[in-house]
Amino acid sequence: MTAQRRRALVTGITGQDGGHLAQLLGEKDYEVFGLVRGQNNPRKAAVEAEFPDVTLIEGDLADPTSLVRAIEISNPDEVYNLAAVSHVGFSFTNPTLTLDVTGKGVLNLLEAVRLSGRAEHTRFYQASTSEMFGGLDYNRPGAGYDEDSLFHPRSPYGVAKLYGHWIAKNYRESYGMFVSCGILFNHEGERRGREFVTRKITDAVARIHLGLQSHIELGDLWPKRDWGYAGDFTRGMWQMLQHDTPEDFVLATGQTQSIEDFLTLAFAEIGIDDWRPLVRQNPAFLRPAEVDILLGNPAKAESVLGWKREVSFEQMVKLMVEHDIALNSPAA
Ligand code: GDP
Repeated sequence: MTAQRRRALVTGITGQDGGHLAQLLGEKDYEVFGLVRGQNNPRKAAVEAEFPDVTLIEGDLADPTSLVRAIEISNPDEVYNLAAVSHVGFSFTNPTLTLDVTGKGVLNLLEAVRLSGRAEHTRFYQASTSEMFGGLDYNRPGAGYDEDSLFHPRSPYGVAKLYGHWIAKNYRESYGMFVSCGILFNHEGERRGREFVTRKITDAVARIHLGLQSHIELGDLWPKRDWGYAGDFTRGMWQMLQHDTPEDFVLATGQTQSIEDFLTLAFAEIGIDDWRPLVRQNPAFLRPAEVDILLGNPAKAESVLGWKREVSFEQMVKLMVEHDIALNSPAA
């Protein structure tokens, strides 16, 4: 008799992490279901084309009944809640929507699992974020944030995510559900949306190289982030749900770089050392409150899960620039 394939429901399947996770779970022979939001979601076709074996279910984190239906259809062993209104800048202009989806949506999905009667056999991953720390924990600058650091979110996105984090922990403690939260520092790559600074830069660098664009407009260049590769981080999500007990884990690289550092590496890929004449500041990209520096400490994930990142910061920048040059080239 053949063993039953494991079943996973991924919310946010159309996003960066959803793509990496769909690939990983496919390689591991899971039956994968993806939640897709909205009528005529333009990204649905791209997911269907890339992952024809994934079953897409229409639903929305803000609509509890659609989630009950999604759980019924997918009957999942593992749920990965990656869906969110996930852009920090956007959350300042759309704070209520961010709270409804990124915060309350977690509660809706946890309740859908609990009310379905599948709580005992369903493992739940909640995508928590380093934005919950807010960069103000100056008493731990060297070691980086870990699972015990204080939270002080600095955006509507960070505040909504903190609600999601605590309600997920609450369901673990109240109902004994297997719920693990991954507190992930920034993770980037060729699937990243162009609204995030890394992909915005690599896309612009590629276009400048190809003569399609003259310069790039950015906000502040001094903030620092702990930037890792998304493929490494989604593997960590899966590892969290294979662990014996539900726990929270920080995934990070343990190194922090400024946007200037990122620009220097990205422009070096196209042979430009002095990038300053090609970068202009546009106040539209400044934020009402900024997170100055994020640095994470992944020691727990490394020792408990055996998680290890494979792609370095330098390799990631190179990979992203090369990908965007190929994508923007006329023959592509
Ligand atoms: P975040 O760390 O989740 O907010 O990820 P982002 O990639 O959106 O932003 C990283 C940092 O880059 C933040 O400090 C932003 O303020 C800064 N930044 C500077 N210019 C830009 C820009 O043009 N777009 C974005 N998204 N961020 C920018």
